[in-house]
Amino acid sequence: MAGQALYRKWRSQTFEEVVGQEHVTLTLRNALRDGRLSHAYLFTGVRGTGKTSLARILAKAINCLDPDPQARPCNHCAICTAITEGRQLDLIEIDAASNRGIDEIRDLREKIGFRPNEARYKVYVIDEVHMLTREAFNALLKTLEEPPPHVVFILATTEPDRVPETVRSRCQRFDFRRIPTAEIVEHLSAVVKSEGGRAAPEALVAIARRSTGSMRDAISLLDQLLSYGDEVLGLARVEGVLGLVNPQTIGRLVDTIAGADAAAGLALINQLVAEGVELGQLVDQIVAYLRGVLFVRVVQAPDLLDLPQDILEIVVRQAEALTPGVLLIALHEFIEARSALRDQAPGVPQLPIEMAFLRAVLPANSQATAAGAATAAVAVAAPAVGPALPKSPQARGADAPAAAPQPVASRPSSQPEPARPATQGTPPGEPAADLLTAAQAGWERFLSAAGKRCGMKVQAALRSVKEIDVVGQAIVLQFAHAFARDLVTEGGNRAQVEALWEELLQRKVQIRCTLVGETPAPSAAPLLRSAARPENDDEALLRGVQELGAVVTRLG
Ligand SMILES: [Zn+2]
Repeated sequence: MAGQALYRKWRSQTFEEVVGQEHVTLTLRNALRDGRLSHAYLFTGVRGTGKTSLARILAKAINCLDPDPQARPCNHCAICTAITEGRQLDLIEIDAASNRGIDEIRDLREKIGFRPNEARYKVYVIDEVHMLTREAFNALLKTLEEPPPHVVFILATTEPDRVPETVRSRCQRFDFRRIPTAEIVEHLSAVVKSEGGRAAPEALVAIARRSTGSMRDAISLLDQLLSYGDEVLGLARVEGVLGLVNPQTIGRLVDTIAGADAAAGLALINQLVAEGVELGQLVDQIVAYLRGVLFVRVVQAPDLLDLPQDILEIVVRQAEALTPGVLLIALHEFIEARSALRDQAPGVPQLPIEMAFLRAVLPANSQATAAGAATAAVAVAAPAVGPALPKSPQARGADAPAAAPQPVASRPSSQPEPARPATQGTPPGEPAADLLTAAQAGWERFLSAAGKRCGMKVQAALRSVKEIDVVGQAIVLQFAHAFARDLVTEGGNRAQVEALWEELLQRKVQIRCTLVGETPAPSAAPLLRSAARPENDDEALLRGVQELGAVVTRLG
């Protein structure tokens, strides 16, 4: 496998060489110095953080022939050398993820009583121990309950939660952390130097970032990149091989979100796609970048971010231009796009990214104009105020019988009018038409209040309502898309929306959310459309993607 050679060559052989896990190595060295050896260790942490390397170092240290305990492992004695060369019979390494795992555990049970061949202790290293079957775990547990004095177990796992508690509780546990970028860069730098090569610091930073805390991944990548034989390994080579997008370019894309420039943003996304960037990688970079902007905006401590100075300056400027609300929406949308990419049918593979981008841009767009539109609406239409209805316990909740459609007699309707209990229905002198007029007149004011009360996502969803209607005492909001309807109905959102309408209209109302065409709505009226009203999210979204030649069959 490419990239394995350098990793093996640079595998740490002493406690000091293990990078980024000082909290583990220090504790183990102190225990060895004081002769406090445990019979079972559990090493946990993500891949490539040094678990199995340290397991071997520990196996050497407890068997090393050097008379000075502080100098173990010496890496020179017969035992140390044999372990390094993989021919020490008393170090038994089991890969629990392999098919032979069960057989090897059975074998272990049979042979565990035998004395070590030449070392002081038999050391069993079981890698990916969470992969053992229940049967194998039971066998292991019996051994751990009464461990022979000459045996040490080192269990390693990336998923400690999948190791039974009965096993975990019998081990001394060490959690390996992701190795910080700076420490990986330092180590890579030493490797490059020793190999007689040269690399630009920013190239090593890019490799380290991509490796997300795994030294094994970082060194394997470095090995692969060095094989191109560049005189100096540069950032362009790393970006090219990894399909990384230049951070400045991501910065330009975020600028288009800040400037609500949908056309420029879509053009940039499509340019990157044409250049052949890997789409998942692109989304990951956008998400990481937006997180950085949010971080600077909220914490106002850019030094905490691990970014080059030129990028940091752009991020700081953008943090002033973008509100946390817009950033959170953008992050949410791009994270959703990440999983949508996997399900995306071929044709326009970048569609989820474009949709995420447009959803991120459009709230910023409409937010800026919403206040103006709302005041205009209030100026022309005084809020309709009606007498409050008598309180009725059945009046709330769309699922209650009271919320069933109650077509009023004055309306043309093909449905027979259902029998109504005396306490329900439209009181005399307050026809449904009044409620509809009031709801239409108060719509922009309602939207503005909904933004403050329920957040921008719910506001954006409400803004996408196609038609409103009144049935009985219920205001029916008809959505074009299920995702928008679900957003308004989920959690406490509908109750909030209802409360807002009640405050606005000074009367008891119910809210029902449907899809356009889902229920017969004889009096459905298009929303107020004036020149001041901004285009809603869905229209703009559809227009945007259709301009790109996409055929949209389903949204949300
Ligand atoms: Zn030794």
